[in-house]
Amino acid sequence: MDLQTIALHAGYEKDSSRTMAVPIYQTTAYDFGTAEFAASSFNLEQGTDHVYTRVGNPTNAILERRFAEVEGGSACLAVASGMAAIFYSVLNVAESGDNIVVSNQLYGGTITLFNQTLKKLGIEARFFDIHSPEKIESLIDDKTRCIFFEAISNPSIDVPDFDEIIKISNKYNILTVVDNTVATPILFQPLLLGADIVIHSASKYTTGQGTALGGFIVERKDLSHKIKGNRRYPYFNEPELSYNGLVFADSVVSGMLFTFRARMILLRDTGAVISPFNSWLLIQGLETLSLRMREHSKNALLFAEFLESHPKVKKVNYPGLKSNANYKNAQKYFQDGACSGLLSFEIENLEIAKNILDKVTIFSIVANIGDSKSIITHPASTTHQQLKEKELEACGVPAGLIRISCGLENIADLIADMKQALEA
Ligand SMILES: *Cc1c(COP(=O)(O)O)cnc(C)c1O
Repeated sequence: MDLQTIALHAGYEKDSSRTMAVPIYQTTAYDFGTAEFAASSFNLEQGTDHVYTRVGNPTNAILERRFAEVEGGSACLAVASGMAAIFYSVLNVAESGDNIVVSNQLYGGTITLFNQTLKKLGIEARFFDIHSPEKIESLIDDKTRCIFFEAISNPSIDVPDFDEIIKISNKYNILTVVDNTVATPILFQPLLLGADIVIHSASKYTTGQGTALGGFIVERKDLSHKIKGNRRYPYFNEPELSYNGLVFADSVVSGMLFTFRARMILLRDTGAVISPFNSWLLIQGLETLSLRMREHSKNALLFAEFLESHPKVKKVNYPGLKSNANYKNAQKYFQDGACSGLLSFEIENLEIAKNILDKVTIFSIVANIGDSKSIITHPASTTHQQLKEKELEACGVPAGLIRISCGLENIADLIADMKQALEA
């Protein structure tokens, strides 16, 4: 079935109320009915949709089943935000003394999480150059727990050589975690190429109109084969004390091993749960995701071509441009070569950049992406402000870089607006 059809129907079976829209189960808790049912629920024998909304909720479950199918995975855990999804995907495999090997081109918040918060927890992030994946091997040791990178990096807009990274991860039996926020499953499904875990900030294209925060962790079908018996992953292969010595790899239904542990340990203990109302908003967003991604991509390509032809623009980063270093990978990996709505461009300096931000009228100055309305950002002074100058350079953010999230407005209006701002 096509993704557009899946995104409209998967995971929802109408009950006797026969509501066309997915119902919002706005409840914290559920009536177990009998003492025995209650006991068996806490013993993980009854599924997770009716214990307590911190670990499961029927509206959240519909969103999770639907998104798992859209990503081509076997199970999904929805959480409160993209950052929670990233944090949990790392904590699900790593602890103090362990390390993770991560791309040097990452969302600013992810870099801060890896360099500051995880460091305080004793987990070391080892950075590799996204353009030289072969260097990953020299960073791996016995304590390496995952390889983390973005399918389209934000804000440098790079597309890595997936096959190469996945080959290395399989050689060393290490999980790959791919942040697919910007590409979305409509353009790219990393799990079908052999990636192990996909995470998302659903707060961007999935919600689509900037109305709800959310995050996803999705696992590949058959991932349990890679985890079971793998010495890198004791959490799954040794008795879990908080569940009477249960061994996850032996007990959990195949196809949901990774997300089940994240839910029943990390979400249970730290509680970054998504609200059922936000899940409902994300379900509405999913219904039109495929249409929107095609339009975002079309607009962004035309906008990038305009910028490339403008004398004041030094460089345009958009993988859909033939001149772009990522063009080959984008054509190889992305559906119809479409490259999403995110692009960035470089002008001479900080002052001109700030002037452009003040002169545009349709673009809003917002620290977000993936909205149906167009957004303009100056990363060096906002989203990446916490990074030192050297870190900024290392993650591809020069002072004159402007990031655009191309929305769904008429493209002629967007180009005219940017033209007058560049020439003002
Ligand atoms: C926004 C974003 C995140 C963080 O997601 P939140 O939902 O804002 O917590 C992570 N990765 C990428 C690529 C993002 O754009």
